[in-house]
Amino acid sequence: MSEPQITLSLDEVRELATVIFSAHGLSERQTTAVVETVTNAERDGCKSHGLFRVPGYIKSIASGKVSKGAVPVLTDLAPAVLKVDGGNGLAPLAIERGRQPLIDRTRQQGIAALAITNSYHFAALWPEVEPLAEEGLVAFAFVSSLSFVAPAGGTKPLYGTNPMAFAWPRDGHPPVVFDQASSASARGEIQIHQRDGKQLPDGWGIDNQGRPSNDPTAVLGGAQLPFGGYKGAALAMMVELLAGALVGDVFSFEATANDNGDGGPSKGGELILAIDPAKCVEGGGAAAQLAHAEDLFAEVLGQDGTRLPSDRRYAARKLTPIEGIQIPTSLHTELQRLAS
Ligand code: NDP
Repeated sequence: MSEPQITLSLDEVRELATVIFSAHGLSERQTTAVVETVTNAERDGCKSHGLFRVPGYIKSIASGKVSKGAVPVLTDLAPAVLKVDGGNGLAPLAIERGRQPLIDRTRQQGIAALAITNSYHFAALWPEVEPLAEEGLVAFAFVSSLSFVAPAGGTKPLYGTNPMAFAWPRDGHPPVVFDQASSASARGEIQIHQRDGKQLPDGWGIDNQGRPSNDPTAVLGGAQLPFGGYKGAALAMMVELLAGALVGDVFSFEATANDNGDGGPSKGGELILAIDPAKCVEGGGAAAQLAHAEDLFAEVLGQDGTRLPSDRRYAARKLTPIEGIQIPTSLHTELQRLAS
């Protein structure tokens, strides 16, 4: 049986998270950025990246791994390549530092990249790409993590759960966004199954002997599996290369070797790419491309049983300001302890 839940308003989520991060000495700017990420995850019904993540963030602040006062530094690497060095801080402020310069550079150049290094990423990726698509850009983001996922045919963790996100701008609608791990599930989802005493679906992971397992504890101690077998493994490898070697940061297995094992986020890199659709055709406007995309979305939605990726989040976004969000009472108790 699932645990009893407690309901909080989004303002209460923001306030509780702010008190916790401030109480642990995180700078005001870092706190504002990470609290926004956590609150927006709860607002959009992304439970594995909302308040559930706060104890993990705090472990890494308390262990000294994360720099509490980090100030991200932006540098120009090329006309269409920007870099933000996160200074060992949490990723949300580093991402925020690079966002507007990336938008400006994409509008000038047609395409631009933002390389983020030396930051601790513990969140979903849609917060990176959705604001870019709201500015009319097409956007991609890639981030690696710690070694959790076995390569195709292997039995030992090597890749991170390595999410990738994509966003497409729309006229009169919020962007279409997908944001997915290259593993069969995000690690947070396995931890939530473990917390709730639930078995995992088939295909999510193997135990430490390489045997398929539905037991969350056995899989957390064994290895997660890529989605779609070798095809997901190839995407996981691509994410390692883009968020690691390309931007001059670590692979997931190197992040694991460097990590102090405090249970919080790992230090690594991220790549965000943006394309201005108006610069991809002659004539200077993106209206025809956006209208054409609507034909595709209409075809998808014309079939029963379909929806667009991100529709679940947008539906939750309408409800949570009215109904609030729910978290298990045990998590609430832990958060109150961290707040004091
Ligand atoms: P899901 O499998 O839950 O969802 C993946 C995507 O598919 C979402 O965009 C979702 O949209 C969409 N989707 C789901 N069902 C349908 C459907 N029936 N029709 C159309 N689209 C659908 O995500 P994952 O479990 O793979 O990842 C969860 C999160 O974990 C991601 O946000 C990811 O960034 C994050 N993560 C972060 C890591 C890190 O190190 N920072 C590591 C790994 C994962 P919708 O949201 O609307 O449901």
